[in-house]
This record gives sequence, structure tokens and C-alpha cells, in this order.
Amino acid sequence: MVNNLLTINLLELETEKNLMKEYSYTIPKKNSVIIVPNGGFIEPIKVSATVSKKQEQTYLIEGLVETQLKLPCDRCLSLNTLEVKELFKKQVLVTNQEIDLKEEDSEGFYRIPIGRLPLKELLQEAIEFSIPSKFLCQKNCLGLCYNCGTNLNDGQCGCDKNDVDPRLAVLKKYYDKKK
Ligand SMILES: [Zn+2]
Ligand SMILES: [Zn+2]
Repeated sequence: MVNNLLTINLLELETEKNLMKEYSYTIPKKNSVIIVPNGGFIEPIKVSATVSKKQEQTYLIEGLVETQLKLPCDRCLSLNTLEVKELFKKQVLVTNQEIDLKEEDSEGFYRIPIGRLPLKELLQEAIEFSIPSKFLCQKNCLGLCYNCGTNLNDGQCGCDKNDVDPRLAVLKKYYDKKK
């Protein structure tokens, strides 16, 4: 249901005098439309967007998506909140040529086959873009002990950090690289 509501009928703009229209949506935090990789929403997703017609078959959509995510820290895996305030902007070309909804063409256009613009992909992209490539609970997160798994932010575990189980040596290398 939310999915259908997240489609903008571009034909609506044809009848508007100023050829610009504003849309706003609130998507419940529990939804199956937008996916947070490894995490979830802890607040509803608020979307505001303006669509304007530039020329025949060509539109500009600009908007803001606001929400809060719960994500695991990349080092210690504890769940933390990420405030999202992400702007998005796309040029849209209505075309009957072969299309790929997920990608912009070389001129930066997002092509759609009919005058119905699905917001789902745009919002998904904006949410993913808002997640930093390295998300940490705190700047100096100490991570987990690769020997016993203790969260080192809560205190030392007593393991000898140089005496690593050979089976975990690969993991140690991985963690060292991430630090
Ligand atoms: Zn952490
Ligand atoms: Zn340990």
C-alpha cells in the first residue's frame, strides 16, 4: 500500500499552471518498502519533495528524507542511532527507450518508461547514501577482542593480544586492517 502511494503521477503537473508541485509523505518505521542494510528504522521516514517540469518529458525532483536508523558499530557491533537528513535530487526523463530504473544515464537522467515516478528507488538510494562507509559508536571505539569477543569499550578482558589462536589470525588481520 505504501508502495503505491510512493508513486508520483507526473501527468498531474501538466495541469498545474506553475508546473511545480510539492509532495510529502510519512512512511511508518515498520515498512517493507525501504531497506536498511544490517539495521532498521527507529523513527518514521519523513519525505518532502518538489517536482517541477523543465521541458517536454523532462522533470526535476528535489527533496529531503529525514529519519533515524539503528545500526551496528563497524568495530564493536553495538547498536547505535544514526540521524538521517539527506537531500536528493534527480533529473527525470520520460522515455520509451530501454530503461534501467536504478541508474542514471551519461547525461545524469533517471529514465522512466511512463509518467509515473516511483520514489522507492530514490529513497532507498538516499538512505544508503546517508550511511557512512565506516559507522562507529564513538570515534575511539576499541572494538571487540578477537580472542574472546569481549567489547573492549566495557573494559579489558585479560587476553594476551599477541597470543592469538591461529584459527582467528585471519580475523585479527581483518580487524587490524579496519582500524
Ligand atoms: Zn563501537
Ligand atoms: Zn579477550
